[in-house]
Amino acid sequence: MSKPEDELGKLEQRGLLRRLRQISNPHLPTVEFEGRKLINFSSNDYLGLAQHPALIEAATKALRDYGTGSTASRLVCGSLDLFHQLEEKIAKLKKAEAALTFANGYSTAMGSIPAIVGKSDTIILDKLAHACLIDAAKLSGATLRIFPHNDLNKLKKLLISSKGRTLIITESVFSMDGDLCPLKEIVSLKKDYGALLFLDEAHGVGILGDTGQGLAEEFNLQGQIDFQMGTLGKALGSAGGYLATSQAWHDLLINKARSLIYSTAPPPSQVAASLAALTLLGSPEGQKLRERLQENISAFESRIPNLKSHPPIIPRVLGENSAALAASASLLKEGFLVPAIRYPTVPRGTARLRITLSAAHSPENIHHLKEALASL
Ligand SMILES: *Cc1c(COP(=O)(O)O)cnc(C)c1O
Repeated sequence: MSKPEDELGKLEQRGLLRRLRQISNPHLPTVEFEGRKLINFSSNDYLGLAQHPALIEAATKALRDYGTGSTASRLVCGSLDLFHQLEEKIAKLKKAEAALTFANGYSTAMGSIPAIVGKSDTIILDKLAHACLIDAAKLSGATLRIFPHNDLNKLKKLLISSKGRTLIITESVFSMDGDLCPLKEIVSLKKDYGALLFLDEAHGVGILGDTGQGLAEEFNLQGQIDFQMGTLGKALGSAGGYLATSQAWHDLLINKARSLIYSTAPPPSQVAASLAALTLLGSPEGQKLRERLQENISAFESRIPNLKSHPPIIPRVLGENSAALAASASLLKEGFLVPAIRYPTVPRGTARLRITLSAAHSPENIHHLKEALASL
């Protein structure tokens, strides 16, 4: 029988070994690592909300009012009012009948997808979809069909040959590439073939759309998407996941989503922080933060044509694992935290630097990173 050490050795040989990097003082734009202050370009805190006084205040008040833990599943000892306030707010923002929240985005996918489709159904998934969508699709037992990234012709072919209830799963902003799905075309295909659409807005919410609700809002398509998923842990600076959908699907998910039913509800303070984040996002200050993020992005990249707001994820694909690791290490020496992303997070041979920008970065931070990248 082989030992874990053997597997670790193989990972290291292939440049695929991952280690946890201990950091402290996470106050965007900086973070402390091995006693040095680095400029952090690895966080998904795109608006700098994780340190915002309004979120901290709301979480602190909830700690005092509700205590530290929720102590049971929402189905066992009662479902706290805070969860219902948050879900009503999300449903309204998403123009959906209802919303259900989970501990995080990962458990949202794992709980909901296997509750929506099963053995006699079909899932059609974009090749570059996030790991939680793939894992959830596998868990569902549905027939799994994959289409090449954003390939509408192939998607159409799979829709024609699909059996049972059909669920298309894709992301609005792809997490490792920062590009968008062709949402209008996918919505029109899903209608033509009577399929359901599950859209993960993990990197769209907080950024795209007139009020920061994501790509579906940007294209005014919210009412036409069966399942709008997202996380409260990235641009919204808190933690949690949500699914906005119809009342009937919501009611069924409460009966079937195992990550909701069989897990202790998230702490009330997390829910209070999420509520505060959504309020802030809709305020003039939220608007200003979103504008500042767009200014930082503009200083870095040319923009996607005809799109009012641009995603804050900037990949620099280098190919070999060793090349991405070396580039990341060299940036670290220069005082920047920029992660190397490797297989299986991205396809083999496409290892890359993944730069994420935030409203918390100053123009100087951006300027210095550009210089450091140019001299790599
Ligand atoms: C991060 C991420 C998730 C998971 O959300 P968490 O709240 O971090 O669990 C889901 N989908 C995508 C595309 C993500 O990038």
